[in-house]
Amino acid sequence: MIAKKRTKPLKLMKLEVLNERIVQNHSKMQFIESDFAKYNAGFKGEMSLDFYMKDLNEDDYHIFHDLRLPQSSNEQFYFQIDTLIVHSQFCVLIEVKNLIGNLYFDHQFDQIIRTRDGVDETFSDPINQVALQKVQFAKWLRLNKFPEIPLHTLVAITNPKSYIRISPKYGKKSQKIIRGNTLVNKIYGYVSTQQENVLLKKDLKRLTKYLIREDTPHNPDILKNYNIKREEILTGVFCPKCNTPPMIRIKRTWVCLNCSEESNDAHEKALQDYALLFNPQVKNRDIRDFLNIESRSSVKKLLHSMNLKPIGSRKAAIYTLPFPK
Ligand SMILES: [Zn+2]
Repeated sequence: MIAKKRTKPLKLMKLEVLNERIVQNHSKMQFIESDFAKYNAGFKGEMSLDFYMKDLNEDDYHIFHDLRLPQSSNEQFYFQIDTLIVHSQFCVLIEVKNLIGNLYFDHQFDQIIRTRDGVDETFSDPINQVALQKVQFAKWLRLNKFPEIPLHTLVAITNPKSYIRISPKYGKKSQKIIRGNTLVNKIYGYVSTQQENVLLKKDLKRLTKYLIREDTPHNPDILKNYNIKREEILTGVFCPKCNTPPMIRIKRTWVCLNCSEESNDAHEKALQDYALLFNPQVKNRDIRDFLNIESRSSVKKLLHSMNLKPIGSRKAAIYTLPFPK
């Protein structure tokens, strides 16, 4: 069963909005665009691997997608696991790579060399990455007093168009590199009829509870990360059809000046953008500035129509905008 679903990560949502709303010709535009493309490809790769997991027996396997757990009781450092599969005899940690091009796993320098359109690029060896996650997860299990359980690690290469070559001296580690379609068989191979179950039903239940409780999604301040100023962000409501800002509000309807599209709820996406880029906690004034609406009462009506209840009264009232689902 899927104990924790994969949802679009906050960081990806934030990058997407930043990419849409950064002012034209900004010096960091290309950089942001390429980071967004990279993260988006990674997310798509993870989603494509999830497809193969549906064949795992629902009752025997608990699947957790995209976990971010504290390294110790000091909640300053975290480690991330793309996918964790829990079975009563073992756990499997999977690192997903969605790299396109010719991939060469180089044993000598612990790296992947990717050749694409004649250009070489290097990436750190994902097998080492997932090995480190294994150490951190083992420590996490000990800290939380779970029984010692065998931990397997895999690296899944999800792009079907990538051509994989492995250095002949790579050794046993090469068995950890898989494609999506071999994942299920690989996992069945870990099941032993000889070995007794390490995790009893009550342990499994407690482990699920702890993993869900301790999972802390990465929520970066994206403007700070890229050193972007508030005034470098485009305000206004974007047209849902042609994506051009700003739409203007005529009698409770948003109208696009570019393609004449009309919308009653185009402000909802703009408010989600605001929450992602700046802060979900807002005052009426912030929204008037961002949506380019002059009337205080119009904004109040908009927020109420989204069922948002303020805390505090009058000018000090604070609303909490929802993050996209
Ligand atoms: Zn339009």
